Amino acid sequence: MSGDEFRAQGHALIDWIATYWDRVESLPVRSACVPGDFFASLPAHAPHIGDNPWDGLVRELDTRIVPTLTHWQHPSFFAYFPANASPPAVLGELLSAGLGVQGMLWSTSPSCTELEMGVMDWLARALGLPETFTHQARLSGVGASSETSAIASAGGGVIHSTASEAVLVAMVAARHRALANLADDDTEPHLMAYASAQSHASVVKAAMIAGLARHADDRRHVTLVSTDETGRVNVQALRASIVADRAIGRMPFFVCATLGTTGTGAIDNLAAIGAVLDEKAVLDENPPLTTRPIWLHVDGAWGLSACICPEFRAMLDGIERADSICVNPHKWLLTNFDCDAFFVRDAKELTRALSITPEYLRNSASDSGAATDFRDWQVPLGRRFRALKLWLVLRHYGIAGLQTFIREHVALAQQLAQWIRADSRFVLVMEPSLSLVCLSLSARPGESQADADARTLALMERANATGKVFLTHTRASNSALGEQGRILLRVAIGGTHTEERHVRGLWDLVAQFA
Ligand code: PLP
Repeated sequence: MSGDEFRAQGHALIDWIATYWDRVESLPVRSACVPGDFFASLPAHAPHIGDNPWDGLVRELDTRIVPTLTHWQHPSFFAYFPANASPPAVLGELLSAGLGVQGMLWSTSPSCTELEMGVMDWLARALGLPETFTHQARLSGVGASSETSAIASAGGGVIHSTASEAVLVAMVAARHRALANLADDDTEPHLMAYASAQSHASVVKAAMIAGLARHADDRRHVTLVSTDETGRVNVQALRASIVADRAIGRMPFFVCATLGTTGTGAIDNLAAIGAVLDEKAVLDENPPLTTRPIWLHVDGAWGLSACICPEFRAMLDGIERADSICVNPHKWLLTNFDCDAFFVRDAKELTRALSITPEYLRNSASDSGAATDFRDWQVPLGRRFRALKLWLVLRHYGIAGLQTFIREHVALAQQLAQWIRADSRFVLVMEPSLSLVCLSLSARPGESQADADARTLALMERANATGKVFLTHTRASNSALGEQGRILLRVAIGGTHTEERHVRGLWDLVAQFA
Protein backbone atom coordinates (compact mmCIF):
# COMPACT_ATOMS: atom_id res chain seq x y z
CA MET A 1 0.00 0.00 0.00
CA SER A 2 1.50 3.30 -1.01
CA GLY A 3 1.63 6.29 1.32
CA ASP A 4 -1.03 8.05 -0.76
CA GLU A 5 -3.32 5.05 -0.67
CA PHE A 6 -2.81 4.76 3.09
CA ARG A 7 -3.75 8.42 3.51
CA ALA A 8 -6.89 8.06 1.41
CA GLN A 9 -8.06 4.85 3.11
CA GLY A 10 -7.07 6.16 6.55
CA HIS A 11 -9.09 9.34 6.09
CA ALA A 12 -12.05 7.32 4.88
CA LEU A 13 -11.87 5.03 7.90
CA ILE A 14 -11.58 7.88 10.39
CA ASP A 15 -14.64 9.38 8.69
CA TRP A 16 -16.43 6.10 9.02
CA ILE A 17 -15.58 5.78 12.73
CA ALA A 18 -16.75 9.35 13.43
CA THR A 19 -20.02 8.61 11.63
CA TYR A 20 -20.38 5.34 13.54
CA TRP A 21 -20.11 7.22 16.82
CA ASP A 22 -22.70 9.75 15.57
CA ARG A 23 -25.22 7.05 14.72
CA VAL A 24 -24.46 4.32 17.27
CA GLU A 25 -27.38 5.48 19.42
CA SER A 26 -29.81 4.57 16.64
CA LEU A 27 -28.58 0.97 16.46
CA PRO A 28 -29.83 -1.93 18.60
CA VAL A 29 -27.37 -2.20 21.51
CA ARG A 30 -27.07 -5.96 21.14
CA SER A 31 -26.92 -7.91 17.92
CA ALA A 32 -29.64 -10.45 17.24
CA CYS A 33 -27.23 -12.76 15.42
CA VAL A 34 -27.00 -16.45 16.27
CA PRO A 35 -23.77 -18.26 17.27
CA GLY A 36 -21.91 -19.48 14.19
CA ASP A 37 -23.73 -17.25 11.68
CA PHE A 38 -20.94 -14.84 11.09
CA PHE A 39 -18.25 -17.50 11.04
CA ALA A 40 -20.21 -19.45 8.45
CA SER A 41 -20.27 -16.40 6.22
CA LEU A 42 -16.47 -16.32 5.95
CA PRO A 43 -14.58 -18.13 3.18
CA ALA A 44 -12.53 -21.07 4.48
CA HIS A 45 -9.25 -19.70 3.14
CA ALA A 46 -7.56 -16.33 2.92
CA PRO A 47 -7.22 -15.09 -0.66
CA HIS A 48 -4.03 -16.34 -2.28
CA ILE A 49 -3.71 -13.11 -4.21
CA GLY A 50 -4.74 -9.96 -2.39
CA ASP A 51 -8.35 -9.15 -3.28
CA ASN A 52 -8.39 -5.40 -2.57
CA PRO A 53 -10.69 -5.15 0.44
CA TRP A 54 -10.71 -1.36 0.29
CA ASP A 55 -13.23 -0.56 -2.41
CA GLY A 56 -16.09 -2.35 -0.72
CA LEU A 57 -14.88 -2.06 2.88
CA VAL A 58 -17.26 0.59 4.12
CA ARG A 59 -20.23 -1.29 2.68
CA GLU A 60 -18.96 -4.51 4.23
CA LEU A 61 -18.52 -2.84 7.61
CA ASP A 62 -22.06 -1.48 7.45
CA THR A 63 -23.75 -4.63 6.24
CA ARG A 64 -21.73 -7.40 7.85
CA ILE A 65 -19.74 -6.19 10.85
CA VAL A 66 -21.95 -3.54 12.44
CA PRO A 67 -25.12 -5.69 12.50
CA THR A 68 -23.22 -8.45 14.30
CA LEU A 69 -21.78 -6.26 17.05
CA THR A 70 -22.77 -5.51 20.60
CA HIS A 71 -22.31 -1.76 20.66
CA TRP A 72 -20.20 -1.03 23.71
CA GLN A 73 -20.11 2.67 22.83
CA HIS A 74 -23.93 2.90 22.74
CA PRO A 75 -25.09 5.40 25.39
CA SER A 76 -27.65 2.86 26.65
CA PHE A 77 -25.05 0.16 27.24
CA PHE A 78 -25.44 -0.48 30.98
CA ALA A 79 -24.10 -4.05 31.08
CA TYR A 80 -21.01 -5.45 32.86
CA PHE A 81 -18.89 -2.34 33.30
CA PRO A 82 -18.83 -0.19 30.16
CA ALA A 83 -15.50 0.07 28.34
CA ASN A 84 -15.65 3.66 27.33
CA ALA A 85 -13.58 4.96 24.44
CA SER A 86 -12.96 8.55 23.40
CA PRO A 87 -11.58 10.26 20.30
CA PRO A 88 -8.26 11.25 21.93
CA ALA A 89 -7.72 7.67 23.11
CA VAL A 90 -8.53 6.21 19.71
CA LEU A 91 -6.10 8.60 18.05
CA GLY A 92 -3.47 7.53 20.59
CA GLU A 93 -4.17 3.92 19.70
CA LEU A 94 -3.75 4.73 16.03
CA LEU A 95 -0.47 6.48 16.70
CA SER A 96 0.74 3.47 18.64
CA ALA A 97 -0.07 1.21 15.70
CA GLY A 98 1.47 3.64 13.24
CA LEU A 99 4.71 4.00 15.14
CA GLY A 100 4.76 0.25 15.52
CA VAL A 101 7.35 0.27 18.27
CA GLN A 102 7.75 -2.56 20.72
CA GLY A 103 8.80 -1.36 24.14
CA MET A 104 9.91 -4.53 25.87
CA LEU A 105 13.19 -2.91 26.96
CA TRP A 106 13.99 0.70 27.64
CA SER A 107 16.50 0.50 24.79
CA THR A 108 13.95 -0.82 22.28
CA SER A 109 12.20 2.54 22.44
CA PRO A 110 13.16 4.89 25.27
CA SER A 111 10.19 7.25 25.07
CA CYS A 112 7.80 4.31 24.97
CA THR A 113 9.02 3.39 28.45
CA GLU A 114 9.57 6.86 29.83
CA LEU A 115 6.28 8.33 28.64
CA GLU A 116 4.59 5.40 30.35
CA MET A 117 6.51 6.10 33.55
CA GLY A 118 5.52 9.76 33.44
CA VAL A 119 1.88 9.07 32.63
CA MET A 120 1.65 6.43 35.38
CA ASP A 121 2.98 9.00 37.85
CA TRP A 122 0.36 11.51 36.61
CA LEU A 123 -2.35 8.93 37.11
CA ALA A 124 -1.11 7.87 40.56
CA ARG A 125 -1.21 11.49 41.69
CA ALA A 126 -4.51 12.22 39.97
CA LEU A 127 -6.06 9.30 41.88
CA GLY A 128 -4.54 10.34 45.20
CA LEU A 129 -2.30 7.28 45.57
CA PRO A 130 0.67 7.55 47.93
CA GLU A 131 3.82 8.93 46.34
CA THR A 132 5.58 5.60 47.01
CA PHE A 133 3.69 4.20 44.01
CA THR A 134 5.41 6.64 41.63
CA HIS A 135 8.51 6.16 39.51
CA GLN A 136 9.68 9.57 40.60
CA ALA A 137 10.04 8.35 44.18
CA ARG A 138 11.97 5.31 43.01
CA LEU A 139 14.28 7.22 40.71
CA SER A 140 15.04 9.90 43.25
CA GLY A 141 15.56 7.30 45.95
CA VAL A 142 12.89 8.96 48.06
CA GLY A 143 11.08 5.67 48.69
CA ALA A 144 11.65 5.20 52.38
CA SER A 145 11.49 1.82 53.97
CA SER A 146 7.89 1.25 54.95
CA GLU A 147 6.72 0.23 58.38
CA THR A 148 5.00 -2.87 57.14
CA SER A 149 7.73 -4.25 54.97
CA ALA A 150 11.33 -5.03 55.64
CA ILE A 151 12.01 -4.17 52.01
CA ALA A 152 12.71 -0.60 50.96
CA SER A 153 9.81 0.97 49.16
CA ALA A 154 10.50 1.91 45.58
CA GLY A 155 7.56 1.65 43.29
CA GLY A 156 5.94 2.81 40.11
CA GLY A 157 3.22 1.99 37.63
CA VAL A 158 3.06 0.04 34.40
CA ILE A 159 0.32 -0.52 31.84
CA HIS A 160 -0.94 -4.07 31.67
CA SER A 161 -3.56 -5.39 29.31
CA THR A 162 -6.15 -6.18 31.96
CA ALA A 163 -6.86 -6.43 35.65
CA SER A 164 -6.59 -10.20 35.22
CA GLU A 165 -2.97 -9.85 34.16
CA ALA A 166 -2.39 -7.51 37.10
CA VAL A 167 -3.67 -9.92 39.74
CA LEU A 168 -1.69 -12.77 38.20
CA VAL A 169 1.52 -10.76 38.26
CA ALA A 170 0.79 -9.65 41.83
CA MET A 171 0.19 -13.23 42.95
CA VAL A 172 3.38 -14.48 41.33
CA ALA A 173 5.41 -11.68 42.93
CA ALA A 174 3.74 -12.39 46.27
CA ARG A 175 4.62 -16.07 46.03
CA HIS A 176 8.19 -15.17 45.19
CA ARG A 177 8.44 -12.91 48.22
CA ALA A 178 6.84 -15.46 50.50
CA LEU A 179 9.25 -18.20 49.45
CA ALA A 180 12.33 -15.99 49.27
CA ASN A 181 13.96 -17.65 52.30
CA LEU A 182 13.50 -21.13 50.91
CA ALA A 183 16.39 -23.12 49.44
CA ASP A 184 15.68 -24.75 46.09
CA ASP A 185 15.49 -28.24 47.62
CA ASP A 186 13.33 -27.23 50.61
CA THR A 187 9.79 -28.54 50.63
CA GLU A 188 7.38 -25.77 49.66
CA PRO A 189 5.01 -24.71 52.40
CA HIS A 190 1.28 -24.86 51.77
CA LEU A 191 0.55 -21.39 50.38
CA MET A 192 -2.82 -19.73 50.94
CA ALA A 193 -4.43 -16.80 49.09
CA TYR A 194 -7.58 -14.99 50.22
CA ALA A 195 -10.19 -12.80 48.56
CA SER A 196 -13.82 -12.05 49.23
CA ALA A 197 -16.53 -14.27 47.86
CA GLN A 198 -17.55 -11.24 45.79
CA SER A 199 -14.09 -10.67 44.33
CA HIS A 200 -13.63 -10.99 40.58
CA ALA A 201 -13.14 -14.45 39.07
CA SER A 202 -9.71 -13.32 37.88
CA VAL A 203 -8.33 -13.96 41.40
CA VAL A 204 -9.14 -17.67 41.23
CA LYS A 205 -8.08 -17.74 37.59
CA ALA A 206 -4.71 -16.26 38.60
CA ALA A 207 -4.36 -19.09 41.13
CA MET A 208 -5.22 -21.59 38.38
CA ILE A 209 -2.54 -20.15 36.10
CA ALA A 210 0.00 -19.88 38.90
CA GLY A 211 -0.42 -23.57 39.72
CA LEU A 212 -2.28 -22.97 42.99
CA ALA A 213 -5.64 -24.32 41.83
CA ARG A 214 -6.28 -27.16 39.43
CA HIS A 215 -9.78 -25.96 38.58
CA ALA A 216 -12.13 -23.12 39.41
CA ASP A 217 -13.59 -24.85 42.47
CA ASP A 218 -10.26 -25.99 43.90
CA ARG A 219 -10.01 -24.29 47.29
CA ARG A 220 -6.90 -25.97 48.67
CA HIS A 221 -4.84 -22.80 48.26
CA VAL A 222 -7.52 -20.14 47.85
CA THR A 223 -10.10 -19.12 50.42
CA LEU A 224 -13.05 -16.99 49.35
CA VAL A 225 -14.09 -15.20 52.50
CA SER A 226 -17.71 -14.40 53.32
CA THR A 227 -19.06 -10.87 52.97
CA ASP A 228 -21.18 -8.66 55.21
CA GLU A 229 -24.61 -7.30 54.36
CA THR A 230 -23.11 -4.55 52.19
CA GLY A 231 -21.05 -7.04 50.15
CA ARG A 232 -17.72 -6.07 51.73
CA VAL A 233 -15.34 -8.75 52.85
CA ASN A 234 -15.96 -9.81 56.44
CA VAL A 235 -12.63 -8.80 57.93
CA GLN A 236 -13.06 -10.89 61.09
CA ALA A 237 -13.74 -13.94 58.93
CA LEU A 238 -10.61 -13.12 56.92
CA ARG A 239 -8.61 -12.87 60.13
CA ALA A 240 -10.02 -16.15 61.42
CA SER A 241 -9.13 -17.93 58.17
CA ILE A 242 -5.56 -16.65 58.24
CA VAL A 243 -5.07 -17.56 61.91
CA ALA A 244 -6.57 -21.03 61.40
CA ASP A 245 -4.38 -21.68 58.36
CA ARG A 246 -1.25 -20.61 60.19
CA ALA A 247 -2.18 -22.81 63.11
CA ILE A 248 -2.07 -25.89 60.88
CA GLY A 249 1.23 -24.89 59.30
CA ARG A 250 -0.08 -23.27 56.13
CA MET A 251 1.47 -20.09 54.80
CA PRO A 252 -0.87 -17.21 54.02
CA PHE A 253 0.87 -15.14 51.36
CA PHE A 254 -1.68 -13.11 49.39
CA VAL A 255 -4.86 -11.14 50.01
CA CYS A 256 -6.85 -9.42 47.30
CA ALA A 257 -9.15 -6.60 48.39
CA THR A 258 -11.61 -5.06 45.94
CA LEU A 259 -12.58 -1.41 45.55
CA GLY A 260 -15.84 -1.82 43.67
CA THR A 261 -16.81 -5.47 43.25
CA THR A 262 -18.11 -6.51 39.87
CA GLY A 263 -21.44 -7.73 41.15
CA THR A 264 -22.60 -4.89 43.34
CA GLY A 265 -19.75 -2.39 43.57
CA ALA A 266 -18.91 -3.21 47.20
CA ILE A 267 -15.83 -1.48 48.54
CA ASP A 268 -13.67 -3.52 50.90
CA ASN A 269 -12.33 -1.83 54.00
CA LEU A 270 -8.61 -1.50 53.27
CA ALA A 271 -7.69 -0.02 56.62
CA ALA A 272 -9.30 -2.90 58.52
CA ILE A 273 -7.76 -5.50 56.20
CA GLY A 274 -4.31 -3.92 56.50
CA ALA A 275 -4.61 -3.85 60.29
CA VAL A 276 -5.38 -7.58 60.34
CA LEU A 277 -2.46 -8.42 58.07
CA ASP A 278 -0.03 -6.62 60.33
CA GLU A 279 -1.55 -7.69 63.62
CA LYS A 280 1.10 -9.24 65.80
CA ALA A 281 -1.09 -12.13 66.82
CA VAL A 282 -1.74 -12.95 63.18
CA LEU A 283 1.91 -12.72 62.21
CA ASP A 284 3.48 -14.47 65.17
CA GLU A 285 1.43 -17.63 65.10
CA ASN A 286 3.52 -20.47 63.73
CA PRO A 287 6.60 -18.51 62.69
CA PRO A 288 8.95 -20.69 60.61
CA LEU A 289 8.53 -19.02 57.21
CA THR A 290 6.54 -16.00 58.18
CA THR A 291 9.16 -13.32 58.10
CA ARG A 292 7.62 -11.85 54.95
CA PRO A 293 4.43 -9.83 55.20
CA ILE A 294 1.33 -11.04 53.41
CA TRP A 295 1.01 -9.32 50.02
CA LEU A 296 -2.02 -7.06 49.73
CA HIS A 297 -3.27 -6.54 46.18
CA VAL A 298 -6.00 -3.95 45.66
CA ASP A 299 -8.28 -4.64 42.72
CA GLY A 300 -9.75 -1.26 41.85
CA ALA A 301 -10.39 -2.22 38.23
CA TRP A 302 -13.61 -0.22 38.06
CA GLY A 303 -14.14 1.68 41.32
CA LEU A 304 -10.73 3.22 41.79
CA SER A 305 -11.23 5.50 38.79
CA ALA A 306 -13.68 7.48 40.92
CA CYS A 307 -10.77 8.56 43.14
CA ILE A 308 -9.88 11.10 40.50
CA CYS A 309 -12.53 13.08 42.43
CA PRO A 310 -11.32 13.85 45.94
CA GLU A 311 -14.80 13.31 47.40
CA PHE A 312 -14.61 9.57 46.63
CA ARG A 313 -11.20 9.01 48.17
CA ALA A 314 -12.45 7.68 51.49
CA MET A 315 -12.05 4.24 49.92
CA LEU A 316 -8.29 4.83 49.86
CA ASP A 317 -8.06 4.90 53.64
CA GLY A 318 -5.39 2.25 54.34
CA ILE A 319 -4.06 2.11 50.77
CA GLU A 320 -0.49 2.68 51.96
CA ARG A 321 -0.46 -0.96 53.18
CA ALA A 322 -1.07 -2.20 49.62
CA ASP A 323 1.77 -3.94 47.82
CA SER A 324 0.05 -3.57 44.46
CA ILE A 325 -2.95 -1.74 43.09
CA CYS A 326 -4.74 -1.87 39.77
CA VAL A 327 -7.28 0.31 38.04
CA ASN A 328 -8.62 0.03 34.49
CA PRO A 329 -8.75 3.36 32.65
CA HIS A 330 -10.39 1.19 29.95
CA LYS A 331 -13.44 0.87 32.16
CA TRP A 332 -14.21 4.34 33.37
CA LEU A 333 -11.54 6.85 32.30
CA LEU A 334 -12.33 7.30 28.61
CA THR A 335 -9.41 5.19 27.44
CA ASN A 336 -10.32 2.49 24.97
CA PHE A 337 -9.54 -1.13 25.77
CA ASP A 338 -6.91 -2.32 26.66
CA CYS A 339 -5.38 -0.27 29.45
CA ASP A 340 -4.94 -1.50 33.01
CA ALA A 341 -2.75 0.64 35.26
CA PHE A 342 -0.84 -1.55 37.70
CA PHE A 343 1.07 0.12 40.53
CA VAL A 344 3.54 -1.55 42.89
CA ARG A 345 5.08 -0.30 46.09
CA ASP A 346 8.40 -2.00 45.40
CA ALA A 347 9.33 -2.64 41.78
CA LYS A 348 12.16 -4.95 42.80
CA GLU A 349 9.63 -7.45 44.05
CA LEU A 350 8.27 -7.72 40.54
CA THR A 351 11.58 -7.91 38.81
CA ARG A 352 12.91 -10.52 41.25
CA ALA A 353 9.92 -12.69 40.47
CA LEU A 354 9.68 -12.11 36.72
CA SER A 355 13.09 -11.23 35.35
CA ILE A 356 14.94 -13.63 33.10
CA THR A 357 17.66 -12.34 30.82
CA PRO A 358 18.77 -14.40 27.86
CA GLU A 359 21.84 -13.18 26.03
CA TYR A 360 19.83 -11.81 23.11
CA LEU A 361 18.10 -9.26 25.35
CA ARG A 362 21.25 -7.96 27.02
CA ASN A 363 22.20 -4.36 26.34
CA SER A 364 24.30 -1.71 28.00
CA ALA A 365 21.39 0.41 29.24
CA SER A 366 19.85 -2.54 31.07
CA ASP A 367 23.21 -3.64 32.40
CA SER A 368 23.86 -0.18 33.79
CA GLY A 369 20.83 -0.53 36.07
CA ALA A 370 19.72 2.98 35.14
CA ALA A 371 17.01 1.93 32.70
CA THR A 372 13.54 0.61 33.51
CA ASP A 373 12.72 -2.47 31.44
CA PHE A 374 8.99 -3.02 31.59
CA ARG A 375 9.28 -6.57 30.24
CA ASP A 376 10.13 -7.51 33.83
CA TRP A 377 6.91 -5.95 35.17
CA GLN A 378 4.44 -8.02 33.14
CA VAL A 379 3.62 -11.45 31.68
CA PRO A 380 4.53 -10.99 27.99
CA LEU A 381 7.89 -9.91 26.70
CA GLY A 382 6.65 -7.56 23.99
CA ARG A 383 4.59 -4.50 24.68
CA ARG A 384 2.69 -1.87 22.71
CA PHE A 385 3.01 1.88 23.15
CA ARG A 386 -0.22 2.09 25.15
CA ALA A 387 0.90 5.12 27.14
CA LEU A 388 0.14 7.31 24.13
CA LYS A 389 -3.61 6.93 24.48
CA LEU A 390 -3.66 7.58 28.21
CA TRP A 391 -1.32 10.55 27.72
CA LEU A 392 -3.66 12.07 25.14
CA VAL A 393 -6.74 11.41 27.29
CA LEU A 394 -5.18 13.06 30.35
CA ARG A 395 -4.01 16.04 28.33
CA HIS A 396 -7.17 16.48 26.29
CA TYR A 397 -9.73 16.25 29.11
CA GLY A 398 -7.48 17.27 31.98
CA ILE A 399 -8.18 16.02 35.47
CA ALA A 400 -11.09 18.46 35.74
CA GLY A 401 -12.71 17.02 32.60
CA LEU A 402 -12.42 13.47 33.90
CA GLN A 403 -13.80 14.55 37.28
CA THR A 404 -16.86 16.04 35.59
CA PHE A 405 -17.38 12.86 33.63
CA ILE A 406 -17.25 10.63 36.75
CA ARG A 407 -19.42 13.00 38.79
CA GLU A 408 -22.10 13.05 36.12
CA HIS A 409 -22.33 9.27 36.12
CA VAL A 410 -22.50 9.09 39.90
CA ALA A 411 -25.25 11.75 39.90
CA LEU A 412 -27.19 9.79 37.27
CA ALA A 413 -26.96 6.69 39.47
CA GLN A 414 -28.41 8.67 42.39
CA GLN A 415 -31.20 9.92 40.16
CA LEU A 416 -32.06 6.40 39.03
CA ALA A 417 -32.00 5.19 42.64
CA GLN A 418 -34.55 7.87 43.52
CA TRP A 419 -36.92 6.72 40.79
CA ILE A 420 -36.53 3.12 41.96
CA ARG A 421 -37.20 4.01 45.61
CA ALA A 422 -40.42 5.74 44.62
CA ASP A 423 -41.80 2.60 42.91
CA SER A 424 -42.84 -0.12 45.35
CA ARG A 425 -42.69 -2.84 42.67
CA PHE A 426 -38.91 -2.59 42.90
CA VAL A 427 -36.41 -2.95 45.67
CA LEU A 428 -32.91 -1.55 45.92
CA VAL A 429 -31.31 -4.47 47.70
CA MET A 430 -28.17 -2.41 48.19
CA GLU A 431 -27.49 1.27 48.04
CA PRO A 432 -25.92 2.34 44.72
CA SER A 433 -22.15 2.22 44.72
CA LEU A 434 -20.64 5.09 42.73
CA SER A 435 -22.34 4.72 39.33
CA LEU A 436 -23.60 1.15 39.76
CA VAL A 437 -27.25 0.61 40.72
CA CYS A 438 -28.59 -2.87 41.50
CA LEU A 439 -32.33 -3.42 41.53
CA SER A 440 -34.76 -6.34 41.80
CA LEU A 441 -38.47 -6.83 41.57
CA SER A 442 -40.04 -6.99 45.05
CA ALA A 443 -41.55 -10.36 45.92
CA ARG A 444 -45.35 -10.23 45.75
CA PRO A 445 -47.28 -11.27 48.86
CA GLY A 446 -46.92 -15.04 49.14
CA GLU A 447 -44.39 -15.22 46.28
CA SER A 448 -41.19 -17.18 46.85
CA GLN A 449 -37.82 -15.48 46.39
CA ALA A 450 -37.03 -17.89 43.56
CA ASP A 451 -40.17 -16.82 41.69
CA ALA A 452 -39.42 -13.14 42.23
CA ASP A 453 -35.89 -13.78 40.94
CA ALA A 454 -37.30 -15.48 37.85
CA ARG A 455 -39.52 -12.44 37.16
CA THR A 456 -36.52 -10.14 37.61
CA LEU A 457 -34.56 -12.14 35.03
CA ALA A 458 -37.51 -12.21 32.65
CA LEU A 459 -37.81 -8.46 32.96
CA MET A 460 -34.16 -8.07 32.00
CA GLU A 461 -34.56 -10.36 28.98
CA ARG A 462 -37.55 -8.36 27.77
CA ALA A 463 -35.78 -5.04 28.20
CA ASN A 464 -32.68 -6.34 26.39
CA ALA A 465 -34.76 -7.84 23.59
CA THR A 466 -36.00 -4.38 22.65
CA GLY A 467 -32.46 -3.50 21.54
CA LYS A 468 -32.88 -0.15 23.27
CA VAL A 469 -30.78 -1.00 26.32
CA PHE A 470 -28.38 -3.66 27.50
CA LEU A 471 -28.30 -4.77 31.13
CA THR A 472 -26.69 -7.75 32.87
CA HIS A 473 -27.46 -9.37 36.19
CA THR A 474 -25.69 -10.89 39.15
CA ARG A 475 -26.58 -13.11 42.06
CA ALA A 476 -25.62 -11.43 45.30
CA SER A 477 -25.33 -13.49 48.44
CA ASN A 478 -24.13 -12.25 51.79
CA SER A 479 -24.95 -12.47 55.46
CA ALA A 480 -28.25 -10.64 54.92
CA LEU A 481 -29.37 -12.31 51.67
CA GLY A 482 -28.44 -15.85 52.69
CA GLU A 483 -26.54 -18.48 50.75
CA GLN A 484 -28.95 -18.67 47.82
CA GLY A 485 -28.80 -14.91 47.55
CA ARG A 486 -30.86 -12.88 45.21
CA ILE A 487 -30.92 -11.95 41.54
CA LEU A 488 -30.09 -8.29 40.94
CA LEU A 489 -30.19 -6.33 37.71
CA ARG A 490 -27.07 -4.25 37.41
CA VAL A 491 -27.24 -0.82 35.83
CA ALA A 492 -23.63 0.22 35.29
CA ILE A 493 -23.59 3.83 34.17
CA GLY A 494 -20.34 4.74 32.46
CA GLY A 495 -20.78 5.30 28.74
CA THR A 496 -18.88 8.17 27.17
CA HIS A 497 -22.15 9.64 25.84
CA THR A 498 -24.61 8.45 28.48
CA GLU A 499 -26.90 11.29 29.58
CA GLU A 500 -29.93 11.61 31.81
CA ARG A 501 -32.30 10.90 28.91
CA HIS A 502 -30.69 7.48 28.39
CA VAL A 503 -31.03 6.56 32.05
CA ARG A 504 -34.60 7.87 32.01
CA GLY A 505 -35.26 5.76 28.89
CA LEU A 506 -33.93 2.69 30.67
CA TRP A 507 -36.09 3.36 33.72
CA ASP A 508 -39.23 3.92 31.62
CA LEU A 509 -38.65 0.64 29.83
CA VAL A 510 -37.98 -1.34 32.99
CA ALA A 511 -40.96 0.25 34.76
CA GLN A 512 -43.20 -0.51 31.78
CA PHE A 513 -42.21 -4.20 31.72
CA ALA A 514 -42.45 -4.55 35.50
N1 PLP B 1 -11.74 -6.87 38.73
C1 PLP B 1 -12.94 -6.30 38.74
C2 PLP B 1 -13.44 -5.69 40.02
C3 PLP B 1 -13.71 -6.26 37.58
O1 PLP B 1 -14.92 -5.69 37.62
C4 PLP B 1 -13.20 -6.83 36.40
C5 PLP B 1 -14.00 -6.81 35.16
O2 PLP B 1 -15.08 -6.32 35.08
C6 PLP B 1 -11.94 -7.42 36.44
C7 PLP B 1 -11.22 -7.42 37.62
C8 PLP B 1 -11.33 -8.05 35.23
O3 PLP B 1 -11.06 -7.08 34.31
P1 PLP B 1 -10.14 -7.33 33.04
O4 PLP B 1 -11.07 -7.57 31.91
O5 PLP B 1 -9.37 -6.05 32.91
O6 PLP B 1 -9.28 -8.51 33.32
